[in-house]
Amino acid sequence: MSIPHSEIPSRAPSALAVDDIVLPFEVSSLDLRGRVVRLGPVVDEILEKHAYPQPVAKLLGEAVVLTVMLGSALKIEGRFILQTQTDGPVRMLVVDFTAPGKVRACARFDKQRVADAIEQGHADAGALLGRGHLAMTVDQGPDMNRYQGLVALDGGTLEDAAHEYFLRSEQIPTKVRLAVAEELRQADGGARHRWRAGGILLQFLPKAPERARVADLHPGDAPEGVEPHALPEDEAWVEGQALVSTVEDLELIDPALSSERLLYRLFHEPGVRVFQAGDVHAECSCSRDAVEAMLRSFSQDDRDHMVEDGRISVTCEFCSANYQFAPKDVGANES
Ligand SMILES: [Zn+2]
Repeated sequence: MSIPHSEIPSRAPSALAVDDIVLPFEVSSLDLRGRVVRLGPVVDEILEKHAYPQPVAKLLGEAVVLTVMLGSALKIEGRFILQTQTDGPVRMLVVDFTAPGKVRACARFDKQRVADAIEQGHADAGALLGRGHLAMTVDQGPDMNRYQGLVALDGGTLEDAAHEYFLRSEQIPTKVRLAVAEELRQADGGARHRWRAGGILLQFLPKAPERARVADLHPGDAPEGVEPHALPEDEAWVEGQALVSTVEDLELIDPALSSERLLYRLFHEPGVRVFQAGDVHAECSCSRDAVEAMLRSFSQDDRDHMVEDGRISVTCEFCSANYQFAPKDVGANES
């Protein structure tokens, strides 16, 4: 009897499509690692509740996918916060991910400017965001330092900003794809819209760090005729990028295509290994106690000014939950 030498067992990719998960994977023959994110009810719940104009909702959906993709890399408990601050019609996007899988999100925007952008047909991500920055903050509790990464937003998409961030700050060759769409479904009483979102992150992590060089750094203001100091990219990374660039938006959001099948489509030749998937849910961390504590931290004057019709009313910007307080409960005076 021959003893089979130990190797990773292989099996057929699962045909079962599961929503609201992050699936980590590895293509070891190409030194690639990554994660697939598929969001159904989670992104639908977040976006439906806000009822933002369609292009704003779509943009926030992309930010949710990106945040889940990056935040789910946190090994231990902690929060990952993605926030844009820009001069476009959408001034701010905030997505807050709490490990292992809680996410909430909201946007601040200028209604009129968004309406104008839609009317003029300039409501793509770059036009809505405009110029400013994208900040990513990792908060792992009161005893740990907060870590913040910043990247410029310059009329481009969130995908562009993510690439820029990994290139400049982490020096990890990275490719990100994000997709958000509305699905129309036949339901009782007419068709119903449902938001779906998906994405894939691919990173090149070779054991020899010099292989991770990247060729697409801008040559800068080198005089004309001077060849930029071009380094060829590693063949494995060239192949990885080529494979992931073939992913269609539809494949990322298709409710019938399982994440494993999607990965198998892309990487069946070099071989792909998947790890335990993580669940994602839409959940806000606001509470009456937290709102009360926040109100009590305000100055007396600020608290007094918040009293309207004999009470203080606070609505959570993330989940629209409304909290009402009698002025005396939070030490405010009625005028
Ligand atoms: Zn809330």
